[in-house]
Amino acid sequence: APRADADVPARLPVRPGLHGLEPYGAPQLDVPVRLNVNENPYPPSAAVVADIAAAVAAVGPELNRYPDRDFAALCTELADYLRAESGADLGADRIWAANGSNEVMLHLLQAFGGPGRSVLSFAPTYSMYPEYARDTLTEWVAGRRSPNFSLDLDHVLAEIDRVRPAVILLASPNNPTGTALPLEHVVAICEAARTTGPAGADGPAASVVVIDEAYGEFRREGTPSALSVLPDFAHLAVARTMSKAFGMAGARLGYLAAAPELIDVLRVVRLPYHLSAVTQAVALAALRHREELMAQVASLRAERDGLVRWLRERGLQVAESDANFVLFGLFADRHSVWEGLLDRGILVREVGPEGWLRVSVGTPTETAAFRTAMEEVLER
Ligand code: PMP
Repeated sequence: APRADADVPARLPVRPGLHGLEPYGAPQLDVPVRLNVNENPYPPSAAVVADIAAAVAAVGPELNRYPDRDFAALCTELADYLRAESGADLGADRIWAANGSNEVMLHLLQAFGGPGRSVLSFAPTYSMYPEYARDTLTEWVAGRRSPNFSLDLDHVLAEIDRVRPAVILLASPNNPTGTALPLEHVVAICEAARTTGPAGADGPAASVVVIDEAYGEFRREGTPSALSVLPDFAHLAVARTMSKAFGMAGARLGYLAAAPELIDVLRVVRLPYHLSAVTQAVALAALRHREELMAQVASLRAERDGLVRWLRERGLQVAESDANFVLFGLFADRHSVWEGLLDRGILVREVGPEGWLRVSVGTPTETAAFRTAMEEVLER
């Protein structure tokens, strides 16, 4: 016989805290000039595309098998790349990779966060960070950045002392502000964080310090990477990505450098075979062409500095940027500026504190189109 409640619609047991939430993501609109998600505007050349296609074809006959779970060849090549880019002499056992640095940082929170623990950061910052915290049931605590968006070291150290976070998550350069963290501050924070983490049976542990260098390759001269002090701290992780300077956002490959003992904990929480054979082959092929793929980084930096100057000449406020984007304002109605640009075929990002907008650095043609549209919008 049919059960009495058979016609009662089932309600999903949505986890507390997830009710009514929208998925994260900027609008993906089909407009001529897309300057909203900090991509590299230069596509790979036909020769690089052909090599990537050949690398994928080469793993084709083995796609009935699971991939190399430890992606050893990829770790070796990423360590080699970091040596060339930052002078950091790291072995392959200090590299971890996943599907974008978003997944790398999720692994960090899965491994070191959790109920009863907190992650400390400083706002405004990358809006995915609170989502990693939510998804791992870690408490999110955000201190504040100074009015020029730099970090006030005294405030940071006081917050570490007060919050005793399991993880300290700092983007350098920061998104959406472009602000880089001086190496002395990274060192001071790592020194302070040696015993500020959760208490265990053997006394207090460290807070894991994560420096998210997704935009690290765009930093200006004289701003060393946190990689240069990696050997000094067993509780430091430096995250990088192939999505930005490398121009491979579509390939989804992020990675980090840290002590082997820290990486061993990440291995416990990762899903088996999380990096597909196709992803590994694509990333390895792209790394073989790193000089060509990275060739535009210097011109993107110059283009950024020119854009900062141009916006300031128009009387706008512009945050100092070490990244491939610029935060500018202040607008009484930023949404109408955003819309005015969109009407002219330019997509920027409505993000950051009220009154500010963020624009990614495009090709010279794209940046010129942005400037023309901005002049029209400012003259309205
Ligand atoms: N960190 C920061 C600061 C970012 O802005 C982004 C991308 N917008 C990421 C990490 C994630 O990039 P991906 O997952 O593509 O490596």
